[in-house]
Amino acid sequence: MLGLMQDWPLLCHRILEHAALIHGTQEVVTRSVEGPIHRTNYAEIHKRALKISQRLDRDGIRLGDRVATIAWNTWRHLEAWYGIMGIGAICHTVNPRLFPEQIAWIINHAQDRVVMTDITFVPILEKIADKLTSVERYIVLTDKTHMPQTTLKNAVAYEDWIAEADGHFRWKTFDENTAAAMCYTSGTTGDPKGVLYSHRSNVMHALMANTGDSLGACASDTMLPVVPLFHANSWGIAFSAPSMGTKLVLPGAKLDGASVFELLETEKVTHTAGVPTVWLMLLNHMATNKLKLPHLRMVVCGGSAMPRSMIKAFVDMGVTARHAWGMTEMSPIGTLATLKPPFSDLAGEEALDILQTQGYPPFGVQMKITDDAGKELPWDGKTFGRLKVSGPSVAKAYYRVDADILDENGFFDTGDVATIDPNGYMRITDRSKDVIKSGGEWISSIDLENLAVGHPAVAEAAVIGVHHPKWDERPLLIVQLKQGQNATKDDILKFMDGKIAKWWMPDDIAFVDGIPHTATGKILKTALREQFKAYTFPGT
Ligand code: AMP
Repeated sequence: MLGLMQDWPLLCHRILEHAALIHGTQEVVTRSVEGPIHRTNYAEIHKRALKISQRLDRDGIRLGDRVATIAWNTWRHLEAWYGIMGIGAICHTVNPRLFPEQIAWIINHAQDRVVMTDITFVPILEKIADKLTSVERYIVLTDKTHMPQTTLKNAVAYEDWIAEADGHFRWKTFDENTAAAMCYTSGTTGDPKGVLYSHRSNVMHALMANTGDSLGACASDTMLPVVPLFHANSWGIAFSAPSMGTKLVLPGAKLDGASVFELLETEKVTHTAGVPTVWLMLLNHMATNKLKLPHLRMVVCGGSAMPRSMIKAFVDMGVTARHAWGMTEMSPIGTLATLKPPFSDLAGEEALDILQTQGYPPFGVQMKITDDAGKELPWDGKTFGRLKVSGPSVAKAYYRVDADILDENGFFDTGDVATIDPNGYMRITDRSKDVIKSGGEWISSIDLENLAVGHPAVAEAAVIGVHHPKWDERPLLIVQLKQGQNATKDDILKFMDGKIAKWWMPDDIAFVDGIPHTATGKILKTALREQFKAYTFPGT
């Protein structure tokens, strides 16, 4: 027997309709790419998003067509998102930090018909435009005054383009499983893979992200997503903030410590989200200039492991540091670390032990760890295994890739290696390809990196496995020191000694001027392995 409840498809644009109706005057503040601070609200964004839909419709964009955006977090980007999705077209966010050849590959693979771009990225697109055969026109997210001279095909300033629409347009209703958005994962090897979100998966994810133990922002809060819209839907904030009526503050192109601090302070931001590199820059800026943020209550941090020293720095400021783990294929939230019972009253180092884990999943994500043969491993907090997940916002296939990516129980292998403890707290110990295999046992490169960055002179640390004649692989610690600071190999090893098992201790330390990163801010271990491929441990 079926239930007798309404068939009300979960469509992304219904989120903005709700925001406009119920939280219409709630502000959306942007540091514009052109420079000045721009203020608008959800009612205005809704009105302009309708014009975008109308204009795209007039340009012949139909259900299922792909429209790319290559843009910073701004109000224009946000309204473009909803305008694209409202007619059932697919909003394809392109990561501008990828190499131009990868950008071309992705746009061609997605067969994008229109590209909306910030002025910043016009020169990159001009260089690859002759390869982008599916693109019919470029819309530059600016006004007539700031429109650059460009050779891009049918280029038009966004403000001129939408001025041709009157906004008398109704968003469409269709099946909630219709594709809404796509985002390519920036794998370090092989071709990028397209994750194709549906309206339903995005709305389900927004509801999940809104809970108190997830992003935890409500209508009286202000959220600044430093994490870009092109990095897995700015971790879902582009949907969750309007669905709650949370005020949004968008940082545009300026993500340095001073610029982020200025917005956090002047807009009295309560919640913010970004990768560890961003928080490192903010904390350095605040420490150097002896600054405080009295309104800030929560910093969500993910994308790579949040070091214990960083969690402590925020906790000492009275700010909740919420360590999150997820991935593009998960829309992206997987787990978040909060102090749930019986740990709610913990403080000091004991609290940090929990907050440093990647946390436990909200309702809507299931996880398990398995060995290489797929056998489930115990949740004892010690046993490492391949981390696999399932849920309504987890990918079941990649776009135009004919391969089964789920196991026989419908779980997706994340490529991460993790432990899970009896309370459900998950701890990432590595990417499966980065784990160091020493004498048949595994050493977690992430644990070693986290420990090393706790040394006061260390700015960033990376650990790779290097061939060893006896143990197969042993850890090499690669360290970038903070500017003006000194530390020797012995200083750092002494600092680490006693905090990890003896056999986990790195066999050597290499000092470097900079550590390479991927387009989403993760340490690029393939480049480090290449850099150190001729390296041998002393005495081997
Ligand atoms: P992406 O799809 O670019 O967001 O990358 C997802 C991958 O980033 C995950 O599979 C993890 O390897 C890594 N990652 C994300 N969050 C964390 C975290 N909190 N700690 C460690 N690794 C993380």
